Amino acid sequence: MSGLELKNIQKSYGSVEVIKGVDLEIASKEFVVFVGPSGCGKSTLLRMIAGLEPITGGDLTIGGKRMNDVDPSKRGIAMVFQTYALYPHMTVRENMGFALRFAGVKKPEIAKQVDEAARILELGPLMERRPKELSGGQRQRVAIGRAIVRNPEVFLFDEPLSNLDAELRVHMRIEIARLHKELQTTIIYVTHDQVEAMTLADKIVVLREGVIEQVGTPLKLYDDPDNLFVAGFIGSPKMNFLKGVVEGGAVRLPDYGNQVLPANVKVADGTPVTVGIRPEHFKISGSSMLELKIELIEHLGGETYAYAGYGAGELLTLATNNDRQIKAGDTYQARFDPASMLLFGADAQRIR
Ligand code: ADP
Ligand code: MG
Repeated sequence: MSGLELKNIQKSYGSVEVIKGVDLEIASKEFVVFVGPSGCGKSTLLRMIAGLEPITGGDLTIGGKRMNDVDPSKRGIAMVFQTYALYPHMTVRENMGFALRFAGVKKPEIAKQVDEAARILELGPLMERRPKELSGGQRQRVAIGRAIVRNPEVFLFDEPLSNLDAELRVHMRIEIARLHKELQTTIIYVTHDQVEAMTLADKIVVLREGVIEQVGTPLKLYDDPDNLFVAGFIGSPKMNFLKGVVEGGAVRLPDYGNQVLPANVKVADGTPVTVGIRPEHFKISGSSMLELKIELIEHLGGETYAYAGYGAGELLTLATNNDRQIKAGDTYQARFDPASMLLFGADAQRIR
C-alpha cells in the first residue's frame, strides 16, 4: 500500500495560478478528503495526482517514487468521477472488466476480479444489465467497481455522489466508508460538501483559492479552527460570527447593544475582533450571557433552532436542545461557557 507526498505542488494555466504551492503528506491507508468551495482547485489537485494534468512545479511522490512525469496508468491509482461515463452498449460485467481486457488480462482472471468487486459492492443480481437499466446509485456503484477491479494502491474520487439525490447520497456515503474498511487502501476524496468530509475523512484538507487553509481530523477542524474560513466552512448550521472590540481583555459588541462578553484576550484595547460561537454552544447555563430577541423558530422535531438578534446585529442561530416552549418575540438570555467562544483577528486568523 502506498502513501503520497506533495511538496510545493503548483499549477498554472498560462499566467493564472490555480494551485499555489501545496504541501501535504498522506499516509498509507488513510482516507483523506479535499474540501472547499467550487473553483478552489480540488479537481485540479486530484487530476495532477492522477496524472491527467501536468504539474507546473513541485514534487509528487507515491509510495516513495517521484511520479511527476510517470504515465497515469503506471501510478497505481484508479479514479472515480462525478459522471459515471459507463459504456452504454456494455453490460455491467463488461463495463467492469473492460480495463482489464484492454490491458490483456486473461479471461478467467478478469472474471475472478469482477466477481470479487461485484460481491463487495453487492452488484451480483445486476451483472447482465446495461447502464440504462440501472438507477443513478447503481451506476455509481458500477463506476466504483470498475476502479476496484484494477486493484489500485490509491483510489481517487472526484465528487462521486454529487449527481445523486439526498437520500441516496447518505446511503452511498456509508457504502464508501464500508468500502474503505474492506479494501484498506489509500483514498483521496474530493467534495464541496462539508458533511461528506466530516463523516468520511480520517483527515480533512480545507482548500481555498489554491491554498491549504488547514489540515486535520474532522473534530480538530470543528473544535479548533485556525481561521475564520475553516470555522465558517465546517459545521452545519454554521458558526455564528459577531463583530466585537477588545476592551480591558473583554469583548464589547457594538452591534448587539454594546453588551460585553467576558474574556481574557491578550491584545490591545480597541483591537477589532470577530467572536465565533457555534449554535449548540448556547445553553441555558454558563457564565457568559448575551441578551437576544427571538425572531424566528424552526421546529425540526428532534431539534429546535431559534434565530435571534439584538440591535443592528445579524441574526444568530441557536440550537436550543429541542426547547419546544421558546417563542418568536421572546427576550432570551443565551448563555454559554466562555471557553467555547473563539476569537479571530482582523486578518481572519484565530487569536488563541
Ligand atoms: P474545483 O474542483 O475545486 O471546483 P477546479 O480544480 O476545477 O476547482 O478549478 C480550479 C480553478 O482552475 C478554477 O478557477 C478554474 O476556472 C480553473 N481551471 C480549471 N481548469 C482550467 C483550464 N483547463 N484552463 C484554465 N483554468 C482552469
Ligand atoms: Mg471539481
